[in-house]
Amino acid sequence: MRNSKKIDVVIVGGGPAGLSAALVLGRARKNVIVIDEGRPRNAVTGEAHGFLTRDGVSPGEFRRVAKEQIEAYPSVSFLADTAVSITGSDGHFQIATAQGSSIESKKVLLAVGMKDRPLDIPGLAEVYGESAFVCPYCDGWELRDQPLVIINKGAELMHFAPLISGWTDRFTICTNGPDELSDTEREVLRRKVQLYESPIHHIDSEDGIVREVVLEDGTVIPCRGIFFKPDLVMGSALPRDIGCEIAETGNVVVDILGKTSVPGVYSAGDMASRVYQSIVAASNGSVAAAAVNNELNAEAWGEMNEHI
Ligand SMILES: Cc1cc2nc3c(=O)[nH]c(=O)nc-3n(C[C@H](O)[C@H](O)[C@H](O)COP(=O)(O)OP(=O)(O)OC[C@H]3O[C@@H](n4cnc5c(N)ncnc54)[C@H](O)[C@@H]3O)c2cc1C
Repeated sequence: MRNSKKIDVVIVGGGPAGLSAALVLGRARKNVIVIDEGRPRNAVTGEAHGFLTRDGVSPGEFRRVAKEQIEAYPSVSFLADTAVSITGSDGHFQIATAQGSSIESKKVLLAVGMKDRPLDIPGLAEVYGESAFVCPYCDGWELRDQPLVIINKGAELMHFAPLISGWTDRFTICTNGPDELSDTEREVLRRKVQLYESPIHHIDSEDGIVREVVLEDGTVIPCRGIFFKPDLVMGSALPRDIGCEIAETGNVVVDILGKTSVPGVYSAGDMASRVYQSIVAASNGSVAAAAVNNELNAEAWGEMNEHI
């Protein structure tokens, strides 16, 4: 498919960030195509929490309602496909997809999210999203007061241990191998909780519910839930391919309006933030959409003046 009409904005990614941007731009009467391959990071979980008015909604239902509402705005359309390359420059981008579409667009908004590298602890994939999670703001309430295992290490562990204690004081820490903790840090943690540094051998579970974490030294830790530090990469290589500046954290560098270092390219959601929550992704999707819209309107206004 080749789109004859130049689109105002191609949004790559149809999670909370991309969908929120599509809603704002549809209401601003911009021609928009949302390209989404439909593999959101939270697909493993049955319920998403903490999104005002949508607490406990399934990720699938969240998307369904969002799309239904966005489809009321006729200038927005959806393409179930993967964007594989973006060429050109501000005002004249060409976006190619895996299924052979080629779309011309004035601006691009990247909202491709982050994704997990394969989980390397045997048994973890079986419980991920059921009783093993990554963010206590998302799933801590459901595991409150339960015996938990925290799989984390280093500086982040020193932050995470006090954080998780707000939901339960019945937790054990596994660093899954020798940690770079200082003696003082180790001492601080051991005063409050059990700390194991042996590598994890496997996780035992039944129907997605973790029963125990088994360490290589033979220690068995019974528990009802796990919080672990995920190993994340950007949801797509596109931001890097088109030259967006990438931070040390692996996220795209944006200004407060969602502008990347590449003119005409905006970014929002997990890929452009360090706060991985749907409502935050939706919020900065909305901000970036308004910024793109302002830029498009200002450019069109300027062109009109040139012709007077
Ligand atoms: C287990 C788990 C539980 C979570 N629970 C909660 C919760 O309870 N509450 C909460 O607020 N947050 C939760 N989160 C975090 C939440 O999922 C993210 O913050 C949110 O999904 C980020 O939205 P996004 O739009 O940036 O990215 P995503 O939702 O990941 O969407 C990105 C989309 O872009 C698509 N995409 C990527 N590359 C391309 C491409 N080249 N072409 C086309 N499409 C592409 C992907 O397939 C995907 O559909 C959870 C996360 C996990 C992992």
